[in-house]
Amino acid sequence: APARLPVALAGRGYDVVIGEGLLARAGGLIAPALPARRVAVISDASVAALHLPALRRGLEEAGIEVRASLTVPPGEGSKSLATYGAVMEELLAAGIDRSTAVVALGGGVVGDLAGFVAASALRGLPFVQVPTTLLAQVDSSVGGKTGINLRAGKNLAGAFHQPRIVLADTGVLATLPARELRAGYAEVAKHGLLQGPLWDWCEAAGAKAVAGEAAALRHAVLESCRLKSAVVAADEREESAEGGRALLNLGHTFGHAVEAECGYDGSLLHGEAVALGLGLAARLSARLGLCDAALPGRVEAHLAAVGLPARLADLPRRFTVEALMGRMRKDKKVRDGRLRFVLLHGPGQAVTKGDVEPAAVEALLREAS
Ligand code: NAD
Ligand code: ZN
Repeated sequence: APARLPVALAGRGYDVVIGEGLLARAGGLIAPALPARRVAVISDASVAALHLPALRRGLEEAGIEVRASLTVPPGEGSKSLATYGAVMEELLAAGIDRSTAVVALGGGVVGDLAGFVAASALRGLPFVQVPTTLLAQVDSSVGGKTGINLRAGKNLAGAFHQPRIVLADTGVLATLPARELRAGYAEVAKHGLLQGPLWDWCEAAGAKAVAGEAAALRHAVLESCRLKSAVVAADEREESAEGGRALLNLGHTFGHAVEAECGYDGSLLHGEAVALGLGLAARLSARLGLCDAALPGRVEAHLAAVGLPARLADLPRRFTVEALMGRMRKDKKVRDGRLRFVLLHGPGQAVTKGDVEPAAVEALLREAS
């Protein structure tokens, strides 16, 4: 039987359902969460070719009408104003009304785009997440952050719009390219470091998830969603600068800097950047005397064991310390020029530090380059 995790929000909470073969049963699972048996599915062309027929059958079998089914090109480029506009026009042209739910079938790109469409079309439509990448199943489909990219930067137009239900069918991960699976696993490792016991599981069995073993994938998705949904329930709109959702940025200050330097051209996936960021965050934690001196080595060894980059030297390209520092100063989370980092006292003991000396970060990057 699938696992059901409640996301207990102050307003309307929802369930994250996790298991294999959920697409075929999608209609029965989502119907109770919807105001009407009518949906519009948004997907990307690669995912639609592989998984839309099963989802459509699963919906129609339960008497849910698929009023429209739209596909966008795969890739980050679809999180654009142009694609957002085209999708909105198509949806309205298809005659959807306010009780038609938007179903996102795809990775984080489709989830973020379709979620923002659902948040804004007709001032808000019910929304369903059917994540198909490991990254989307363990991270982006839970929590209600939706949005698109602007020329000025990533995710700069968006809205909080919580789904009515999330269906994480771990069976669809079988068709995901190995590199995408591995990159998504970096967010599992991040959740592990935030949570504690999950980190021990990562070190012991995470490699099985990266190898595509069904039971290990299910465990990784379930425990990641358990952590993420608890954090989101406690701080739905990231209102705390220190605790709550801000802690989910572990590894992301460094990661975003490296990702931005690579220009989102696919040469470095988000999860790969996060893996690197986790290694650097552990190094910085040790340098500042917050954690055991052995922690960075442990983090790097595990990431390396599953084939993820953990040190700047693991990447084919070099970065200047100045370029990375410049990127970090421009991070959305920077306040009054102070660098903010999520750091570790140990696995399960993350803290936000808003007063990290730039000199310490520069020294770390110089040593790591
Ligand atoms: P993605 O959506 O681009 O998917 C990666 C690739 O895998 C695509 O080419 C896609 O077509 C393909 N794919 C997806 N599922 C597949 C399957 N089952 N079989 C075969 N191929 C499949 O990338 P992603 O890594 O899932 O998401 C990245 C995006 O998520 C970024 O835009 C990032 O900003 C966003 N994100 C959002 C949040 C949030 O809280 N909203 C959190 C983290 C990341
Ligand atoms: Zn991330």
